[in-house]
Amino acid sequence: MLELLDAHYGRPQWEPRYAPVDELVYTVLSQNTADVNTARTFAALSARFPTWRAVRDAPVEEVVAAISLGGLATTKAPRIKQILAAISSRTGEPDLSELDEMDDGQALRYLQSLPGVGPKTAACVLMFALGRPAMPVDTHVYRLARRLGLLGPKTTVEQAHGLLTELAGPENVYSLHVDLVTHGRRVCHARRPECSRCPLAQICPSAYSF
Ligand code: SF4
Repeated sequence: MLELLDAHYGRPQWEPRYAPVDELVYTVLSQNTADVNTARTFAALSARFPTWRAVRDAPVEEVVAAISLGGLATTKAPRIKQILAAISSRTGEPDLSELDEMDDGQALRYLQSLPGVGPKTAACVLMFALGRPAMPVDTHVYRLARRLGLLGPKTTVEQAHGLLTELAGPENVYSLHVDLVTHGRRVCHARRPECSRCPLAQICPSAYSF
């Protein structure tokens, strides 16, 4: 499946996007928000506050105003401040460089101990910022993995993170994630998957069943 997807879309190559704290804040901002709006909102927040310490210490109303472009600002602003405060309570600063000293399991557990951080957000930080093998399972990944028979029908999204990470193998976690998201957006849509032009149709147990 990966060979077919890589041949179709090109093999995705991991490159660091943001530092871990930036990635964590970006992921919180992305919840229930379109990609383009997330990028704009993150840029607006970064322009308004020069450091994460400044966001942590700012009145919540100012953070709400800075991220109002992205929606759910009144929920996300206090959440971001809580996360930055929780990180600071360990190190004194809103900085996640200590992740470098942790193995993958320790890093996932630590991130998920932060306020409101679940397995998807934790995996986003580890995979996108640090290139670690931790599969973020978003709506595309979850839908496609079930259609393709990678997950059983009763597997929960929470269980899927660990199962797909293991199934892919460390060297393929990033490419599998990116391939599935791309394929979910372009071909295997939620409502009307386009099986007739899908490179996986020959091996997909769900092909032409919609
Ligand atoms: Fe999705 Fe159809 Fe392709 Fe299967 S064959 S992955 S259901 S588009």
